[in-house]
Amino acid sequence: MATKVKSATKGTKEAAKIAAASHSSNGAAQQHQSMFAAVLARLDKAAKLVNLSPEVAAVLRKAEKQIIVGVPVKMDDGSVQVFDGYRVVHSTAIGPSKGGIRYAMDVDLDEVQALAAWMTFKCAIANIPYGGAKGGIMCDPRKMSAGELERLTKAYTVAMADVFGVDKDIPAPDMGTGKREMAWIVDAFSKVKRHYEPGVVTGKPLTLGGSEGREAATGRGVMVAALEAMKVTGVNRKTATAAIQGFGNVGSHAARLMHNAKIKIVAISDHTAAFHSPKGIDVIAALKYAADNGGVLKGFKGGKEISNEELLTLNVDVLAPCAIQNVITAKNANDINAKIIVEGANGPTSAEADDILAAKGIVVVPDILANGGGVTVSYYEWVQNRYGHYWTEAEVAKKQDDSMIRAFENVWYNAKQYKTTMRIGAYITALKRLEKAVKYKGFF
Ligand code: NAD
Repeated sequence: MATKVKSATKGTKEAAKIAAASHSSNGAAQQHQSMFAAVLARLDKAAKLVNLSPEVAAVLRKAEKQIIVGVPVKMDDGSVQVFDGYRVVHSTAIGPSKGGIRYAMDVDLDEVQALAAWMTFKCAIANIPYGGAKGGIMCDPRKMSAGELERLTKAYTVAMADVFGVDKDIPAPDMGTGKREMAWIVDAFSKVKRHYEPGVVTGKPLTLGGSEGREAATGRGVMVAALEAMKVTGVNRKTATAAIQGFGNVGSHAARLMHNAKIKIVAISDHTAAFHSPKGIDVIAALKYAADNGGVLKGFKGGKEISNEELLTLNVDVLAPCAIQNVITAKNANDINAKIIVEGANGPTSAEADDILAAKGIVVVPDILANGGGVTVSYYEWVQNRYGHYWTEAEVAKKQDDSMIRAFENVWYNAKQYKTTMRIGAYITALKRLEKAVKYKGFF
């Protein structure tokens, strides 16, 4: 059969718009504001408060390395599509760069730059010896077969073989990727390097050197951050209610673990549907329903169907956006009724919404703190791979919880000390560590 060549980059913005519109029943992702500009706005604010040296600020305002590759893949119908693949290494000031790989239609350089910078700050806040990076491929994994995704992942890995490395740059899962993709990366990378190198990625299946507790780690961190936030804000844990947006890796584990911690989950959602039940959603039934229903909630009978916009404005103690970026913006921030927002997703709140939420007295536990549980256990996985000795799930959970509580306390302390929000307090916590590292290493 003749090979048809068509570029997946054609009409990139058009496709991104369509994808955003079809993915986004809450209308959140449709205007693609510069995410990296939002990172810089917060960085500048924190830098001013903490009197960061201008040299260090200049270093952190730019990514160290940005790679864009065209990845040709033979599709099942015999045609060839060329996908846009990205990897941005934002900083290696504290150690090798670390960050997930995202498969989504709205992936572009701006988004990957922002996500990479957040990884730098996240690792500094969690006090783990990594810098920050992020990768992504503009594709719609829901519309691709397993074979196409395997070829795409392996071709992208080969294209990035000089970038990735166990002491250089270590990917992990993010939106649209999971342990299956990580296993493919191990395979392709090991073949290129001619030796087995499982430590090049984290979030692997257990049999390939994955860590106990990694899959649930980000959701677990969201749960611990929510409990800590309840303590400092005086919310009664026994009567607490929560609404969770997103039912993928982060949202589903956050829902399950908060439910186990006896927090009443009154609303859940994914890109197909949202459900509300003031009496509490049976989270275990929802998990089973999604598992039997192609991973989505559409058709679930355990609550009244509402929209994703309504979920965000429910009167709850904890709102946990765990799906996509920019769902809380200047447009709806005034309508948010939660006491606490725990950001499981990266960038769910726009920079303009920050001020509105702060004025309303809503405590926002920012993404770079709240979803740091994933990279923390990724670090444990990397340590275990090098050590050749593996910890139990309980050991991993204990280390992770202690680490999240310490990080939360540091951020809370800095927010109080500098009379600012937890988000800026988190940036301050990161900047203090990064400034030391950059200065110790010096410049050419
Ligand atoms: P995932 O692909 O496993 O799940 C995403 C979920 O969001 C799905 O349930 C999907 O249906 C839902 N969703 C998509 N569009 C939506 C919309 N418009 N409205 C409501 N729901 C929508 O992804 P994930 O790994 O759970 O990642 C979610 C977020 O958490 C991302 O921002 C990611 O960067 C961040 N994050 C993930 C990890 C991790 O370890 N996986 C770590 C840190 C941060």
